[in-house]
Order: sequence, then structure tokens, then C-alpha cells
Amino acid sequence: MVLVLTGGHSGRGGDEDVQGYARTAVIATVPSESAARQELIKVSAYAAERWDFVQASGGNTSVKSADGTMYVKASGCTLADVAAGRGVAVVEYSSLRLGAAAAGSDALTEWDRKSTSASGHGEPRPTMELSLHGLLGCVVLHTHPLVANAFLCVEESRARIEEVVKDQSGHLYVPYAMPGLELGLALWRVLADGARAGDDVPKVIFLENHGVVVHGDSADDVIGAHERIIGALVDALGGEADRLRFRSEQADTAVPVDVVSAIRHAVPQRPALICIPADFPVAPGVLFPDAAVFCGPSAIVLDEDARRSAAGVQRLAAEYLAAWGQPARVWVCRDVALCSGANPGEARAVAEVWLAQQVVARLAGRVGRPRPLPGERVAQLLRSESEVYRREVAVRRGDHA
Ligand SMILES: [Zn+2]
Repeated sequence: MVLVLTGGHSGRGGDEDVQGYARTAVIATVPSESAARQELIKVSAYAAERWDFVQASGGNTSVKSADGTMYVKASGCTLADVAAGRGVAVVEYSSLRLGAAAAGSDALTEWDRKSTSASGHGEPRPTMELSLHGLLGCVVLHTHPLVANAFLCVEESRARIEEVVKDQSGHLYVPYAMPGLELGLALWRVLADGARAGDDVPKVIFLENHGVVVHGDSADDVIGAHERIIGALVDALGGEADRLRFRSEQADTAVPVDVVSAIRHAVPQRPALICIPADFPVAPGVLFPDAAVFCGPSAIVLDEDARRSAAGVQRLAAEYLAAWGQPARVWVCRDVALCSGANPGEARAVAEVWLAQQVVARLAGRVGRPRPLPGERVAQLLRSESEVYRREVAVRRGDHA
């Protein structure tokens, strides 16, 4: 590892006073492009194989190399793509390097805008969560673990999670912010307010109603810290939350055929259907950003009447479209949920995220009172341009599974 930056706050222009962790930001890097790509593959592969860590195209990773280049997951791609050496965006970060966390928020904003805007050369856009990566160490892993979100999606989540991790080495807590630059700036503020000058930035960062970020000098370092946090949270939930798996079945076998065909008729633009268990109460609203982005603002619960007639299904579909301006993606029919998509890959992505939200809601009930995102936050997610881009890339690829 090569140390490329120590401290100071030169290079900021007309911005807030830089203090806290930001004053002594130190960024280690790996020495070459090939070493950076190897580290990126390693840390991505670790998370990619765990549905209980990342769902659909959620989560992201990055590695910084000594020449001022950052290798980061591309928007709309999966961590499995990155683990296979694909879906990587290359971002110049040397303009940020003289500042990194020590840069002012203006510098971060400018760098994020420049780096995430479409290049026009058909090159992959970096993840919309790029600004988080720019602020942190050499290797960065961001996940949406079910067990972490069980704590982060309840009332007083900060106190609840701190009860569990207080014996671990340091962590930071970032209040809810919209994924993207708003979240990067929220982290920047926490860093600027943070602790005594000279402390290292804690390796583990909790994001309210969202997930976890872990950073460090190497993939092994990051994987180790992520494992320790997950282990502590699983223990706190009583152990049975360990390694929760995704399960699905054929829609046609789990739901009466006439209901399936009524849904296909009512929402013809989403013909692919995947069926997952819904044998616990539907989550009380949207718990984390990807739930809104992938599954829409809510589900249609088919009551007895609707289940008996295609006209009933049609009526609920029309009411949903009128209320939300988009067709329904998830239909709950007794104890299963039908997750729909334009193609099987998209249906699978919706199913992964929907089931994740249901499991988080159930686990959160053991921690405290689940706290959905406020309505205006959900509306903001549904409007977001970068989310639309991410979903479109994912749909075009159609091969999440
Ligand atoms: Zn995220």
C-alpha cells in the first residue's frame, strides 16, 4: 500500500472550514491498475454471492490506485459482474486527491457531477453512490445487509445499533439521505464533524434506512471488518438470521392460473412473473431506497373479491396506476407475492428486493418499531434521474439472475 496523501486542507475554495476526521485524511492506494482490479474482484466476489448482503444490482465496491484512478462498480451492473471482471467504471480522482475527505463539500460536489455525468462515449457510468467512495479509503465495500437493515430501519435506529456494536472498533452513523450526492454530502458532514483530529476514519459506517459501508487498506481488511459487524448483528438477532437465502417458485404453480393470467392481462408491459413467499405481514411502507426503485411505492394486495374475477384485478391495477403514475410491480395473493418485470431478469430483481424488504421488516420487529421512509422521500426516489438510468440499464441487460 502506498500512502499518497496526508492531511491538511489545501485546495479548498470558499467552502466551510474543514475539521474533524477530514483534517487528517489519509488515503492509501494500491500500486498498480492490475493490483487494483484484483482487489476489486476479490471484495466484489465476497459480497456478490450473498443475497443477504446485496440484492439485484444493489451494493457497490471501489479500489483506488496510486496513479489517481479509481475502479468502481458501474451503475446498473451487479457485484457479480464486477467479480467476473465486467461492469467496472474508471474514474479519475486525482483532482479530489489533494482534498479527498479534506476537500470542501464544493469540491466533492463538482467531482461527483463531473464523474457521474454521461461521457457520451458509451463508457459505463460509475455507481450513483460514487461520492461515498471518493471520501473513503483504498478499498470500499457498500452493502445492504438484511441483518443491518433490521436495525437501521427502526425508530431510534442509531441507539439500537450502537447497543450491539459498542464493543467493536469505531463506527460512524449517517442519518438518512437520498442515495447519490446527497448521501455523499451527508457522510462528508459526519466526517467534518467527527471526533478528534488525527483519528483514523472508523472502518464501519452505518447508513440509516439503507445499509453499511466498510473501507480499509485491502480487500482482506474490508472483508474482515464486514464479517465482524455482520456476526455481531446476527448474534444480537438470536442467530437464526444467519445466511438467509432467496427462494422463489413458478408463479403458475403457487397461484391460481386465472389470477396469473388476469395480472398478465392487467399489466401487459410486465409479463414476466416470479413468485416468492409472503407468509408474514407485508412491510409497513418502503423501508430502504432500493425497495422503492425496484418494487415501486407499494404492492397490490389481492382481496377475496379481486381474486375471484379478472375485472377485480383490472380495477386494482387501474387504481394503482392512477395513484402512483406507474404500473404495479408486486401483487400479494394470500401467502405469496408475484413480482413482475418486463423480462425474467427484471422480475427476479424485483423479487430479490421485495423479499429482502419483507425479511428486514420481520427482523426489524424484533429490534423495535419499523420506520418506513417518509412519503416525500419515496416520491424523491421515484423521480430521481439516476435511479431511472440504473433501472433502465438493469432492464436492458435483463440477466440479473
Ligand atoms: Zn446503497
